[in-house]
Amino acid sequence: TFTALVIDLVDGKPKAEFRNLGLADLPDHDVLVEIACSGLNYKDGLAISGKGRIARRTPMVAGIDLAGTVVESRSPLWKAGDRVLVNGFGLSETEWGGYSRFQRLKPEWLMAIPDGFSFEEAMAVGTAGYTAALCVNVLEAWGAMKPGAGEVLVTGAAGGVGSVAVSLLAAKGYSVTASTGRPETHDYLRDLGASAFIDRASLTEKGGPLQKERWAGAVDSVGSITLANVLSQTVYGGAVAACGLAGGADLPGTVLPHILRGVALLGVDSVMAPMVKRKAAWATLAEHLNRDHLAAMTRVEPLSRLPELANEIVAGQVRGRVVIDVAR
Ligand code: NAP
Repeated sequence: TFTALVIDLVDGKPKAEFRNLGLADLPDHDVLVEIACSGLNYKDGLAISGKGRIARRTPMVAGIDLAGTVVESRSPLWKAGDRVLVNGFGLSETEWGGYSRFQRLKPEWLMAIPDGFSFEEAMAVGTAGYTAALCVNVLEAWGAMKPGAGEVLVTGAAGGVGSVAVSLLAAKGYSVTASTGRPETHDYLRDLGASAFIDRASLTEKGGPLQKERWAGAVDSVGSITLANVLSQTVYGGAVAACGLAGGADLPGTVLPHILRGVALLGVDSVMAPMVKRKAAWATLAEHLNRDHLAAMTRVEPLSRLPELANEIVAGQVRGRVVIDVAR
């Protein structure tokens, strides 16, 4: 048997607990993976702390991402020994996820770990980092930002999505402004490539619909008033990639930035993103993510600490990324 973190309903409320499972308990999917590590993402924090209803059926093994080795496969797509990862695809929502030593998964959810990434590095990137890369790719495809021309804003900069976005954008030659509520992270963010800072409090108060034009592009993981302000401060023809709701799920703004300045709001979803976008995002990471930066933003923690870590990430207290060692 092995230990897994399972969400179950207690008095109608989701509650996380450690349980011993055997291979016979796992779902009947075609590929059995021995998991090396998983990650801690904001959504995992919501699921484990019970602050969000993430598991849509119970019992549910939590963990939205995983990296490991194929042990057995009934699919021609994978064979024993393949190094694979999964980001999203309903893990921890409708499908059992990565906080377990073993998991059975559908072949179409798996991706080969790109060459040059260890299991630990793959989960240091994790869903947060892969989402940051999806954001960078969608902004570049939109064509509004140019390296060396104008500032690019990253909100929630010291978090997981934010840290990877700062590092990737800086590596690509953009001038990156980091918005954070934690001044003590400025040195860390400067080391990742941020060249300027704004206090996140300056974005959390409601502002006018058309503010001074400043951002050629932005990656926003905060949402709510922050996102409305970022849109109002984006230059004519600029674009904002919105992927998160750490500050709230509402969007209290107007259409004016869009209809008077042609500002684009580009939505980014990582969970059901098609394989071609996933591969492009991981290619961006493989090419542009500085491994020393990745190491500097990551700490490894045991499965047993997940309940405390979940509260930390939901409270906005985690810096960068946390890799979960599922064997401990
Ligand atoms: P994270 O590590 O906790 O980062 C979130 C950051 O947002 C925090 O570190 C903090 O940064 C800032 N923040 C937290 N609470 C805030 C508040 N009340 N007001 C303003 N800023 C606040 O989480 P993550 O894993 O990077 O995820 C970030 C967001 O992206 C989450 O909402 C997550 O659900 C979302 N996400 C979405 C997708 C998708 O598929 N669309 C994929 C991955 C993540 P500072 O301390 O620097 O201010």
